[in-house]
Amino acid sequence: MKQDTLVVLGTGGTIAGRAADPADHIGYRAGEVPVHELLAGVAWPPGLRGVCEQVAQTDSKDMDSAVWRTLLQAVQAHVQRPEVRGVVVTHGTDTLEETAYLLYAVLQPAKPVVLASAMRPATSAQADGPANLADALAVAALPGARGVLAVCAGEVHSGLDVRKVHNHRLVAFDSGDAGALGVLEEGRFTHWRDWPRAGTLWPRWESLCAAPAWPRVEWLSSHGGQSAWLVQALLEQRARALERGAPRGEMLEGLVVAGTGNGTVHRDLSAALEAAQAAGVVVWRTTRCPRGRVLAGGDSPFPVSELPPAKARLALMLQLL
Ligand code: ASP
Repeated sequence: MKQDTLVVLGTGGTIAGRAADPADHIGYRAGEVPVHELLAGVAWPPGLRGVCEQVAQTDSKDMDSAVWRTLLQAVQAHVQRPEVRGVVVTHGTDTLEETAYLLYAVLQPAKPVVLASAMRPATSAQADGPANLADALAVAALPGARGVLAVCAGEVHSGLDVRKVHNHRLVAFDSGDAGALGVLEEGRFTHWRDWPRAGTLWPRWESLCAAPAWPRVEWLSSHGGQSAWLVQALLEQRARALERGAPRGEMLEGLVVAGTGNGTVHRDLSAALEAAQAAGVVVWRTTRCPRGRVLAGGDSPFPVSELPPAKARLALMLQLL
């Protein structure tokens, strides 16, 4: 069957934001403009037809497992349809890297799943959303494109590597040492790295969809002046939750520590994390450095994640599921 359909799923974000004043790029409400309105006037790749669906309408700072689950299921259903060439997801920038990682880790799609976002609301006189959305559609339509991707300000990133690195500039994303996959310039795509590899569906997909709640994993940082208190408070709460047989999702199951430098942890925090480990909490360490990944070694009792903290938290959650 001819793959002639692009699906656009709306989840909210600044790209769907509305402000009273077209010059206001700060005092707006994210997640207000419906996805079909975002598409009006956006250049559609020639020869392809489109359908859109409003999966959620949220400010992505408030992202939760319910929206993630709905989105994962919607994307998976659409990529399985033979006529679908690719899926575009409009999304807020704040947690885009988390959604991108989840889609990557769980679905590993053989078709393109492209996240489109914006740094200025849809009502802005200089909105960046329409161009970003047009670029995302163009990437989803590219022959051979595959995997979870994020397109913003003319740059194409892989879902595994993308991170938000600026709070207000239009070029808000970066892929760290891995670098972007490519760029779109004047509608022309230049490839720098290969598309992400396609894989198989997360083995516990059924549990991910059916579980009333996902395992609770928290993330905290090591820093100068750090103490044991935060972890102790979490452990006390966990003990109370265990005592009253609290459901999954309430009881702490995992902790990710964003360590200093090569994943090093303040001695007082480290002692508390060892106590957490002894109490049955799974502890992983990564780095709070914006670039680089922790190189394993030394005598730390905590296993290393090579992912940045926000993604490591999700990876641990998936492992615990
Ligand atoms: N708070 C917004 C969101 O993440 C920010 C954005 O989209 O740029 O939904």
